[in-house]
Amino acid sequence: MGVTLDLSRATARPLAPVKPNLCGLTRAELAAALVAADVVPLAKAKMRATQLWRWIHHYGVTDFERMTDVAKETRAALAEAFSLTRPEIVERQVSKDGTRKYLIRLGPRIEVETVYIPDVGRAGALCVSSQVGCTLNCTFCHTGTQALVRNLTASEIVAQVQVARDDLEEWPSPKEDRRLTNIVFMGMGEPLYNLDNVAASIDIISDNEGIAISRRRITVSTSGVVPQLHDLGENSQAMLAISLHATNDTLRDVLVPLNKKYPLADLMAGIRAYPGLSNARRVTFEYVMLKGVNDTPAEAKALVQLLKGIPAKINLIPFNPWPGTEYECSSWSTIEAFAAILNKGGYASPIRTPRGRDILAACGQLRSESEKLRASARRKVAVPLIDG
Ligand code: SAH
Ligand code: SF4
Repeated sequence: MGVTLDLSRATARPLAPVKPNLCGLTRAELAAALVAADVVPLAKAKMRATQLWRWIHHYGVTDFERMTDVAKETRAALAEAFSLTRPEIVERQVSKDGTRKYLIRLGPRIEVETVYIPDVGRAGALCVSSQVGCTLNCTFCHTGTQALVRNLTASEIVAQVQVARDDLEEWPSPKEDRRLTNIVFMGMGEPLYNLDNVAASIDIISDNEGIAISRRRITVSTSGVVPQLHDLGENSQAMLAISLHATNDTLRDVLVPLNKKYPLADLMAGIRAYPGLSNARRVTFEYVMLKGVNDTPAEAKALVQLLKGIPAKINLIPFNPWPGTEYECSSWSTIEAFAAILNKGGYASPIRTPRGRDILAACGQLRSESEKLRASARRKVAVPLIDG
């Protein structure tokens, strides 16, 4: 579980009391909050929550005054008790290839990145963060080197989707011709260390009377928190992605130290038991290509063996170097040779293509320190490959 640092205490000036933001509440929580704040009597709570839900999640309004079918006094009472405001976007960059990167400020010195990548999934995918930083210290990942770690609230996760939709002008929620069709939890953080908020955000994002992104188009990527896998499947029905990166415990212990706690045999058993697995709902295995570390033909063959019997697809991710790392990306020919062995073994194994180079957008290695981002001008980026 992430360590929470309350930076608000570090500021000298007292902060204004924060009104609860309604955007991160599930339907049931929304109804309960209206009653608890004495804005709506119990008998009318469900009806009023349904009404508000459409304004918030279908129309994307950020101002109670725009809720024209809600009585004036109720609108005032709502505004008094709650907020609908979006977090501040500190930076927005659009790449020539259509990739959009948002640096979103959630609090003093707390920033996360969210990246929209066109032509991924059905039409376009949003890579969202689940934590600020990450406690897991995978040796090839920059996020793990950040000192500050805290879980994002459901509201902060939903806000990433709302911000992207504001920018893509996708309100009210379109039925067809959407630009944002898929969500991948492949930004900063380990989603299964923040499962309650991740599951609540998925409930909200997938609700048919709101943002309405189908659960089959929402993918949660984990480094392998085995005890939470079942709950993720049961509570969210999200698609599963596993950051594998190695086919034996000796190497995986180094690359993904969490492996020492949940070794490969346990991880594979947990994956096989993931609720709802089928050929139509396959697990994605992510495998970062590290030169001279995990990229031999023997390892490709071992990977085919390891995944036997699991409805799976494999994403080969070219390693994205960051300042100070000792790893290098495998050569293109090595990656292609690796992919060919996987293909022969019966697995589609697309190689993630670099996108958004001109704005340094990245998915899977996001970080909050924008100055450092700007400094590392030569970083390559890779985006997830996911089915529609
Ligand atoms: N913590 C989760 C989700 C975020 S990371 C997880 O580990 O699955 C999303 C993906 O990006 C993971 O597969 C991760 O291993 C990969 N990744 C992290 N750093 C990377 C880098 N520098 N280059 C390429 N892929 C990286
Ligand atoms: Fe955390 Fe995922 Fe990075 Fe590992 S790869 S440090 S789990 S964000």
